[in-house]
Amino acid sequence: MNSRMPTIFFGHGNPMNALQDNEWSRGWAAIGQRLPRPRAVLSVSAHWYLPGIAVTAATVPRTIHDFGGFPRELFEVQYPAPGDLDLVRRVRDLLSPQEVRADLSWGLDHGTWSVLRHVFPAADVPVVQLSIDESQPAAFHYALGRMLRPLRDEGILLIGSGDVVHNLHTYAWGRHPAEPFDWAVRFEQKARELMQEGKHRALVDYETLGRDAELSIPTPEHYLPLLYVLGASDGNDAVTFPVEGMDGGSISMLSVQFG
Ligand code: ZN
Repeated sequence: MNSRMPTIFFGHGNPMNALQDNEWSRGWAAIGQRLPRPRAVLSVSAHWYLPGIAVTAATVPRTIHDFGGFPRELFEVQYPAPGDLDLVRRVRDLLSPQEVRADLSWGLDHGTWSVLRHVFPAADVPVVQLSIDESQPAAFHYALGRMLRPLRDEGILLIGSGDVVHNLHTYAWGRHPAEPFDWAVRFEQKARELMQEGKHRALVDYETLGRDAELSIPTPEHYLPLLYVLGASDGNDAVTFPVEGMDGGSISMLSVQFG
C-alpha cells in the first residue's frame, strides 16, 4: 500500500440508520465504494467511553447492541468483521508510553457497525475499536489522533464515529423531519469553517466557543471522535463533507473526510 488512506469522521445519529435506506446510509455506502480498500479499520466510537485506553483484541469482536427501546430487527443485526491483532499491537506501539489495554469483553458497538454496515457491507475488512478515555481532556484525544497518523500510510482507515452536534434533550424523537435548531446549524457551520481553515486549536478548545457549542456538545463523548480524525489529518489533506444534514433538529449527520 503506497498511498495514504483518508481519515473520516462519521455522524452516526440514530441507531436505526443501521437498517434504513436513507440519504445518510446511502452516503456512507457511496464513501465505501469510492475508498481504496483498507487493510483494516481503526474505529473510535462515542459509545466506548470509559476510564483508560483499550482496544478490542478478539479475533472476531462481538456485535454489541448498546441501546434500548428499538425494534427487535435492530437487535438481530450482526456485523461479523474479523479483528486484527497486528493492528492491536501497532496501536499499542504508536500510543506508547500510554498504557493501552487489550480488551476481550467489548466488541463493535453501534457507533461502529451502524455505519460500517453500509460502508463495508460484506464485513470483510478487519475492524479494531479504540476506546475514548473519559478521564482525559480534549487536547489529549487530539494528541492521540496525531500519534495514530502513521497508520494512514499502512493501509489503515482511521474513523471517528459520533456527532458534531448531539443534543438528545432537544431531539425530536419520532417527529421527522424536524426543523433544525438555529444554534445547531450555527455551531455546525462554525465547526466546518474551522476545519476548512485548519484551525484545529479552536476545535480542541470547543468549550471556549460559546453558547452554541454548549448546546451542541452538552456531553463530550460524541464530539471527541472528531478530534482523533483531526489529529490524524495533516495540512495537505483536502477537507470534504461527503454526508450532510441534521436529524430531529439537534443531531448533526455531518461526515468529514480528510484526504
Ligand atoms: Zn451515538
